[in-house]
This record gives sequence, C-alpha cells and structure tokens, in this order.
Amino acid sequence: MFKENLFKRYKQNEPIEWYRQTQFYLILNPYCKICLKKHKIVPAEKVSPIVKPANNYNLFWDKANWQGLCLYHYNRKKLSENNFYKNTETL
Ligand SMILES: [Zn+2]
Repeated sequence: MFKENLFKRYKQNEPIEWYRQTQFYLILNPYCKICLKKHKIVPAEKVSPIVKPANNYNLFWDKANWQGLCLYHYNRKKLSENNFYKNTETL
C-alpha cells in the first residue's frame, strides 16, 4: 500500500527523472542491445525495460533491467506491450 502511494507520487516527476537517467544510461550503453546480438552496431535512442515492471517501483528504476534500443526495436517492443509507458514515450 505504502509502496503503491510512493510510486504514484513519484510518477508525477517521473518523465523528467526518467529522461535524465535514461540519457545518462545511453551515454554508458550507446548501442542497441538487440542489434548487437545480430552483430550490428546501431546507436540506441531509447531505454526500454527488459522485464515489464508494471507497478514494481524498484524494478522500474533498476538499471540492470534496462536496455538501450534503436527506434526500430523500441517501437517493435512497444507495440507488443500495453500503454504503460505512454507518459514517458513523448520525451
Ligand atoms: Zn536495434
């Protein structure tokens, strides 16, 4: 219950914080993870969680669960998920 409230409150600042942290993440992880697996070097433009965190606050911000993706793979992944990331997609 408490965690859920904290998560909701945090969500208000989330787009800014998400942008800040993902930009930093992409500096350290500059290439699309899926493309790398196919031996292609493509710059990552978006950060996407490997496991969808739903309302799991800790998992949402867990960088071990993050991956940098190119726009192609990001959009493909997004299409297969629901609209949970709607608020952050516009950044
Ligand atoms: Zn890719």
